[in-house]
This record gives sequence, C-alpha cells and structure tokens, in this order.
Amino acid sequence: MHSSRLLLVAVICLLLTAACTTAQAPAEKPPIRIGVATFSHETCTFCPDPTGVAEWEFYGPPMQGDEVLESDSYIQGFVDRAREYSGVELVGVYSPRDAKGGSSGSWVTTEAFDKYSNGIAEGMKQAGRLDGVYLALHGAMAVTGVPKPEAELVRRVRKAVGEIPIFVTLDLHANEDQELSEAANAVFIIKRYPHYDSYEQGERAARIMIRTVRGTYRPVMATRKPGVITPSVFQDTAMSPAMEIMERARIWEHRAKDSFVSVAFGFAYADVPDVGATVMVVTNNDQKLADEIAQDMSDYIWRLREQFAGKKLPKTREGVAQAIAAANTDRKPVVVADHSDRTGNSSWILEELIRQGAKNFCITTLADAKAIEEIKAKAKVGDQISVHVGGYADQYAGKPVKIDGKVEFLGKYGRYDTVAVLLFGNNNRIILTPLLDQVTDTDIFEPLGIKLSDLDIIVLKSRVHFRRGYVENGFAKEIVWIDAPGLGPADLTGIPYQNIPKDLYPLNVK
Ligand SMILES: [Zn+2]
Repeated sequence: MHSSRLLLVAVICLLLTAACTTAQAPAEKPPIRIGVATFSHETCTFCPDPTGVAEWEFYGPPMQGDEVLESDSYIQGFVDRAREYSGVELVGVYSPRDAKGGSSGSWVTTEAFDKYSNGIAEGMKQAGRLDGVYLALHGAMAVTGVPKPEAELVRRVRKAVGEIPIFVTLDLHANEDQELSEAANAVFIIKRYPHYDSYEQGERAARIMIRTVRGTYRPVMATRKPGVITPSVFQDTAMSPAMEIMERARIWEHRAKDSFVSVAFGFAYADVPDVGATVMVVTNNDQKLADEIAQDMSDYIWRLREQFAGKKLPKTREGVAQAIAAANTDRKPVVVADHSDRTGNSSWILEELIRQGAKNFCITTLADAKAIEEIKAKAKVGDQISVHVGGYADQYAGKPVKIDGKVEFLGKYGRYDTVAVLLFGNNNRIILTPLLDQVTDTDIFEPLGIKLSDLDIIVLKSRVHFRRGYVENGFAKEIVWIDAPGLGPADLTGIPYQNIPKDLYPLNVK
C-alpha cells in the first residue's frame, strides 16, 4: 500500500472515531429552569377587615421550594406536565399562603403587597439562571395605593429576571386589563365556574412555556374590556349566558390552532379601576388573529349584556316562602343560596326562616367567633344554652338573633379549633364557624353528627360553587337563590363605587 493511501485510511479512521465519539456522548444541554410562585387574593373591598401581613401569615409563614410546587391545583397541573419533559427543572419560590378569611378580606395593605411581591421577585433572582417564570395568581387582588397589583407584581418580577417568558394563570373572577398583558408574556384563565379547570390551565401554561423556551411558540396577546360588570351569582357557567360565552371561547380555540382564548367575568365587589369582564387572547405570533378573536369575544359579551347583568332574584321574605313551599310539597331537600353574604355573618335568612315557622333547616354555616367563645365558656355538649348569633360583622349583616337551643357539637373540625352546632326550634340547626366558610359539598354534616336525611332546607353562604356537591349530583330537589341584603348583592347599582370606570353596563343605565 502506498504511503499516501495509508495516510488517507488513517484520516478516515480518525474521522470515524471522532464521529462515533460525538454520537455516543453529546454535549450535555443545560436544563430548562422555571421559577414558580403564587400570590392569590379575591379582595372584597367593601368588606370590613383589611388583609395585612398577620392575615397572610395566619396559616403559617410564606412557603418555599417543594411546598410551593404542591400548593394549589393550577401549580399542580403546571408541575405534572412540565415534569413529563426531560431536562426541565422547577424551582418553587417564596410564596405566601392563603390569607385568613379568603375573599371576605378587604383591601390588602401596601405593606403586605410589598413584602410578598418583592419577596417573590427577590426569590426569582436568588433562584439562579431561569428560562421562564410561572405565576399562579387569582387576579382580583385590591391593594391600598397600588391600582393594578397583578401587573405591578409581574413588573417587579420582570425587573428581577429580565426578558424571559413570564406566564400567568388567573381565576375567572379576575379584574384585569391591558397592563397585565403588557407586563406578562401569556395569560391563561379558567373557563368553568365552579372552577374545575384550574389544573388544566396550569397544564397549558407548562406546555406553552416549554415550547416558548424551545422556540416553537412565540406568544402574542390581545386584551379587550367589553364594558360589562356582573355579580358572581349570574356567572354560573352551567347557565346562560356564561355558558355560551365560554363555549364561544372554546370554539375559537378549536378553530384557530395554538390560540388560547380567556374570559374573566370579573369580581364586582371590588372598587378598582379594572373591574368588570376582560377578554385575553394568546396566539402563536399572530397579532392580527389575537385581535380578531379578542374583538369578537368582546362584542359577543356586549351583545349578551342584558341577559348577563340584568336578572332579578327574590328578596328575603319571598325567597324563604318559596323554600318553605317547596319543602312542604316534597321538593326537598331545598338548597338556599344566601349568595350576597360576603362575611358569612348575615342573619336575615335565619331570622326569616324562624319568623315563617320553617322546620328541619340547617344554616350551613354562620361565621361567629364571638358566639363560639360564649358557648365554650358557658356550656358543653348536651347543655341547653341561650345565645345571640350573627348580625354584626358588616353593616348589611342584619341583627343578632337569639337562639334558645341545645349544644349538639362543640369541637375541632377541619382547619378550625372549635365549631359549634346548635339544635333549636322545630328540629332546626345552625353550624357556627369562627370564619366565613363557603360550604360546597355535603361532607361537613356527618362529622358534626348531623343526619343529612333529617334536613328539609339547607342554607349555604355560596353563589355558584355549591353546584359541586349539591346540584350536579342531583342532591338538591329545589334551589332558591335569595337576594338578602349583603355586601355581594345581585343588583350592583346601589354599591358605592368610587374608583371604577363611568361607562360600565349596567351601572351607566339610568
Ligand atoms: Zn373564582
């Protein structure tokens, strides 16, 4: 063999070896790292008690690390999907827990907002190199001195992390506008009330985040405010027109590949400048399409405005009479939704049920820490007691009602140290909890010693979420929504708003 040919063979061998080595051990790609945090509140600004640091830390100090990654269903959806991809690393970042009192809490203090929003921004910075940020928010936080807090939070995080994708998921009771979609790269909002799809929106955020980091998705957004404000009680997505609005959003998503069409119906009990419905559309680098869909959805909501915002519900006397009539004709159990009571302490329906001689009813629940303390001090289970309950937490809560009854239960239940059950009158009951408790299923009765089959009328401090445990399974034979006086009325025209736009339907209709 010629020496030149030998050289050629040697070179080919070398090249082959190099190629083989490269194929066997590719250069290790750095993982995709995503910072995850949550900071959620639905603020009832007309409610009496502000939400400060003490309320935010009532259930414990802010979470860190894996606790954040397991904390709520939006995040669980995000985490489960993201972990199906190899080379994705999730970092749970400093996040406050649920605030005491939930959505019965009023204005979040500036101090609390600064503490947690700066804490989240700092936590993202401390997390090291990040490729993306996911924030699971509610969207209806109202903060003293900060007009649009979710947008402000995103701007603070943006300052800390720079130009990487920041994705946000929201509850459909969010009050938002253009400011949020300008600050964040993509926003995904749940479509169901009751909120069954929070996990799914978290999953979407994860899939689109990873595609965005990899460069196969480039989110662009369009936002519209249709100019319609509606009470929560009419936003049930199993009913018209909320159902049709969400169906139209889903049709758009199916027609236009890679589009995500969100509608927040808004949270009316907040005196904030971005109150009312919001449409937010995300597309894959198609601004024209995003604008077209957002405009169509906004126009559609406007066309349905009278049906959406202009319904009427029976007042206390009429509603209670309807409930008793239904129970007497065997359409029982009857579920009464005391939808307007945002502090859980209202006594209007209790008083009227007693006045009209109702039997076998259960107030589920009445928030009254004072009455629980009094019962604890004076009585034990089995004792007779005379005690006033409810009617004082806010200006619409009615009057305290005197109950002469027997203590049926007094002890720990769920997250409460003490819950009390009083039996009185014609086999009637009140469940007293220290804080507002929106009961959405029937699990509460048995541990408290209450036989469900004994109850003709169950009064809940809920608007729509009770569908989960009382309506969708066929349990309630009759449902009566009662518009008792309260901080969350069906008729929004009497609410003393000061900070909202002037042109919102139906408030601008004379
Ligand atoms: Zn909600």
